Amino acid sequence: MDAKTDIKTLQHFIGGNWVDADDGGTFEVLNPLDDSLYCYAAKGTRNDMRKAVSAAKSACATFRDTTPTQRERWLLRVAELMEGRQKELVDCLIDEIGSPVQKAMFEFNKGLTMIRAAAGLCRQVRGETIPSDRPGTMSMSIREPLGVVAVITPFNVPLIKTTRLVANALALGNTVVHLPSEMAPHLTIIFAEIIAEAGIPAGAYNVVTGLGVEIGDDLTGHTDVDFVTFTGSTVVGQHINEICAKNKTPSTLELGGKSPTVVLADADLDKAMPLVARSIFMFGGQACIGSSRFYVERPIFDEFVKRFSAIAGKVGMGDLRDPDTVIAPIISDRQRQRVKDHIADAVANGATVAAGGEFEGNRCQPTLLTGVTEKMTVCKTETFGPVTAIYPVDSYEEALEKANDTVYGLSSAIFTKNIDRAFHFARNIDAGMCHINGPTIHDEAHVPFGGNGESGVGREGTDADMEAMTELKWVTVQL
Ligand code: NAD
Repeated sequence: MDAKTDIKTLQHFIGGNWVDADDGGTFEVLNPLDDSLYCYAAKGTRNDMRKAVSAAKSACATFRDTTPTQRERWLLRVAELMEGRQKELVDCLIDEIGSPVQKAMFEFNKGLTMIRAAAGLCRQVRGETIPSDRPGTMSMSIREPLGVVAVITPFNVPLIKTTRLVANALALGNTVVHLPSEMAPHLTIIFAEIIAEAGIPAGAYNVVTGLGVEIGDDLTGHTDVDFVTFTGSTVVGQHINEICAKNKTPSTLELGGKSPTVVLADADLDKAMPLVARSIFMFGGQACIGSSRFYVERPIFDEFVKRFSAIAGKVGMGDLRDPDTVIAPIISDRQRQRVKDHIADAVANGATVAAGGEFEGNRCQPTLLTGVTEKMTVCKTETFGPVTAIYPVDSYEEALEKANDTVYGLSSAIFTKNIDRAFHFARNIDAGMCHINGPTIHDEAHVPFGGNGESGVGREGTDADMEAMTELKWVTVQL
């Protein structure tokens, strides 16, 4: 702690110990609302990463043999301790990454369900008996933990991703090395304190803070890492995919998106509009599953734009601790510039700003664009801000074709009363997730969450992580 300013300096958590970076280096973490200094964190080095992987590898030998009862108790204790530190976690989500309290509470509550669902997973790690052609032989598969799991998380939903992926990995008997986003290390460090207090054995969970671009490869490329689960941008995901392919390290990748929402002429707009707004404005549009493309049937297009603009004009942009605030600051200077560039490029090329379009401090107003064409960056590229394009379409078929015209394939949604079309869309949209008469933003602990194409590889969630983070072994007994 810096005595003069009360600014914290975070340490790594390796092998159950709190340690500085190998070379004593630190980096600054800024509060995105006003770019003030939030904290310092240890700037991890290659050596730090090696020590963390080594601690996780050593812990594997005994952690894999812990019983379901032990792991279940530890995880349930983690949930209990999280509840006791709710204010601290929520304050951290507000001040470290600029979450409005509404989003911070949503994330906190979702995080609790992730931990509790993982506790339930401890008893589900099952193989099966298999008939054998060899007389007198009992044949079976048993499911074993993979070993060391590398968890790499993004800035935008650090608690949801940390609770889900770390808890599922531990529930299945793996040990973990976690590289949190350099923009959200404190949240993960609080979580590590909770893990330690819950009595989870030293070395089972390790955190190295630092810059992914400097030390990420030392984690994902380490030969003692048995599985990588990465959530973040498509460009970093692609790089990690190449490293994992070279080392034959299995992985799941949860990447960017450009999720479409189709609104057909028969949709119930009274019910749809609040959900539609939630799809893009939550956390200032910094959600991978946010809907940044709306395809609306022409008979209701004008009405839809009118209603959406009215909502956009009223979305809360006040104090982050005001429960009505929705719009968050954009996380960094670089990202703010990207959002500004996308809007400016669209306008310069002839798009109409139906709502918003300006920045207020570090926050972007809820922004609706019409008249967007393919030559505009915003049409096909992820913006990661509260910016969405609304396109008129002449038929359901055209909407489906345009919704599929993307390299991404994360979430999707359709609003209609026509059940045949709704299911046709669900079956034919090239996306990992589809919500009928619901927003693209939706996640639960036990669902198969993930995307296709440039949006990722594999799925996460309790069942999916059990498949991904364990391996089957065939065992026979000659009776
Ligand atoms: P990012 O890719 O910049 O960073 C994500 C993480 O990767 C950070 O922890 C960073 O330190 C680390 N990293 C950077 N270089 C690395 C390397 N070479 N090796 C290993 N790790 C490295 O992403 P971000 O800005 O934090 O998050 C926003 C992006 O994440 C958006 O594209 C969003 O769509 C995506 N996202 C996807 C999901 C999903 O479930 N599909 C969820 C949340 C966010």
